Amino acid sequence: MRFRLGCLVLQISLALATIAASTLGQEPPKPDLAKVQGEAAGWLADLLRIQTVNPPGNELAAARYLAGVLEKEGIQAEVLESAPERGVVVARLRSSAVPDPSRALLLLGHIDTVGVQKEKWSVDPFGAVIKEGYLYGRGAIDDKGMVIANLAVVVALKRAGVRLDRDVIFLAEGDEEERGEFGMDFVINKHWDKIAAGFAINEGGRVKVKDGKVQYVGVQASEKIPVNVQVVASGPSGHGSQPRKDNPVLHLAAAVAKIGAYQGPARPSAIVRRYFEQLAKIEDPDTAKWMRALEQPERTEHAARVLSEASPMWNSMLRNSIAPTMLRAGIRPNVVPSEARATLNIRLLPGDLISELMAELTKLVDDQQIRFEVEPALRQPAPPSSIDGELYHTIERASATVFPEAVVLPFLSTGATDSAQLRLRNVQAYGLLPFPMADEDDRRMHADDERIPLEAFRKGIEFLYRVVEEFTRAK
Ligand SMILES: [Zn+2]
Repeated sequence: MRFRLGCLVLQISLALATIAASTLGQEPPKPDLAKVQGEAAGWLADLLRIQTVNPPGNELAAARYLAGVLEKEGIQAEVLESAPERGVVVARLRSSAVPDPSRALLLLGHIDTVGVQKEKWSVDPFGAVIKEGYLYGRGAIDDKGMVIANLAVVVALKRAGVRLDRDVIFLAEGDEEERGEFGMDFVINKHWDKIAAGFAINEGGRVKVKDGKVQYVGVQASEKIPVNVQVVASGPSGHGSQPRKDNPVLHLAAAVAKIGAYQGPARPSAIVRRYFEQLAKIEDPDTAKWMRALEQPERTEHAARVLSEASPMWNSMLRNSIAPTMLRAGIRPNVVPSEARATLNIRLLPGDLISELMAELTKLVDDQQIRFEVEPALRQPAPPSSIDGELYHTIERASATVFPEAVVLPFLSTGATDSAQLRLRNVQAYGLLPFPMADEDDRRMHADDERIPLEAFRKGIEFLYRVVEEFTRAK
């Protein structure tokens, strides 16, 4: 009896010592990450089998599936229905500190996908086929892979009993590939209290592999602002047999040609400058020379021109960009129309005003028969996330551990993401697709035979876990 009691006391004190070590000591509790990574591949396969092509999206079944996984782990999850058959799922790991939304970290991803051209695929796009180390399926990278990586991290934190000093919020949203009305807009406008956070990790970054090595970790910290503008040429209509110089088609064509040749001034922001500074470390010496020359005021313009020639993406990161995308004129072959229209898809640098660019284009086109109509903005301009803040630095540190050979570079994305809406609400949001992939795999987003290398998937979970654990664990 006494012996037994002594044993029990010893056991209790050992258990207390373990708890003390895990909560107060230096060493964080270690989850069985390998086990979670293995299970996560199964969850991703399940999610790929649930069709969520948008339109119509119909994300509800996928949201319920994720809620089921979370509940099984003892993590309370809430499915919010945004429309019939549509919805999102939210869950939260609570911190042991006083609740403070401004400190919370939101992990988000979207569960809807773009459509498929089934006959162009070599496997069933909704079959979750595994072949030669790849898991195939629409959404494998964009963005179901990310959603499951977020899920795996939350599950790993919960299982390890990591004591948090800020809440970790999991959000799988929908309708990202269309208008956002039944996804991010719905959550932000109707349920902000459930996701209110000071920090967020979303899709939109990349971990680039080249020649078998991880070259860089790209972290999206800002994005350009899309604005559509109509160029309208007007003039007298008439008979095609008696051409006139005031034909609106001619005036529109001339205006579009001038706009096409226009290149605005280069204005590299702090994020873009850091991007090139970091990229110069791994680029070939000739390109790197021009990236460094951006920093010398008297050479900036010339360097920017060289870099713009080398890459349409770099061009767009350096200046406001204008792409004519649609032309409309005429009703019959023998009728000169009274109006001709072109659509310009403009991407403004954050901080720039469309009114200033329009004044410049008006001067450039210099034609009484031409007017510009600016369409209402799709998005408000959002401030950039800090590249000297605590979450950004945590990402840098985690990258140094998991991908020691890689550089971390922040970037301004030329396309729009849901992160802008978060940044408008003072959230430090970062785009981070954590899976190390070569161009060959990365370019399959939205393309035929989308697939994720399973090894990259595992590594991505490890990377993301390190970022989140270090950022949220009570020290
Ligand atoms: Zn996406």
